[in-house]
Amino acid sequence: MAKQREGCLFCSIARDGAYVHKAKGFVAINDIHPQAPVHVLVLPERHVDTFREISEFDGKETKRMLEFVAETAEKVGLTDYRVLVNVGSSAGQTVFHLHWHILGGRPESRADVLGAVATTAADE
Ligand code: AMP
Ligand code: ZN
Repeated sequence: MAKQREGCLFCSIARDGAYVHKAKGFVAINDIHPQAPVHVLVLPERHVDTFREISEFDGKETKRMLEFVAETAEKVGLTDYRVLVNVGSSAGQTVFHLHWHILGGRPESRADVLGAVATTAADE
């Protein structure tokens, strides 16, 4: 098992949680407070506090992690989605174990919303 941090919620979940997807070194779970119809978190098993420490993963692991994000989105049925990482508490990070949010499944896409805003502005 990869390096873990005692008392870390996401280290415990990576070890014993209910996954929606799993591969060597990574797991994906449903967010407990979804902000979109589909809201999944991808966690590396290895503990790093934030995205700032991304260089602790070598190139191969980093590539694998990004591929795992894309694979997870496909597995949960998303073709269009957002991938988000909050870095630091003032940016909204609340759990200090690196994780990638995958958000999708909204009836209207962000592009549609931006298109609607642009149309309204042009009408004024
Ligand atoms: P962040 O605010 O970027 O650190 O994201 C942390 C996310 O973890 C939030 O969206 C929470 O809803 C989610 N979360 C917290 N506890 C759990 C848990 N036990 N299981 C699944 N998701 C959780
Ligand atoms: Zn951890």
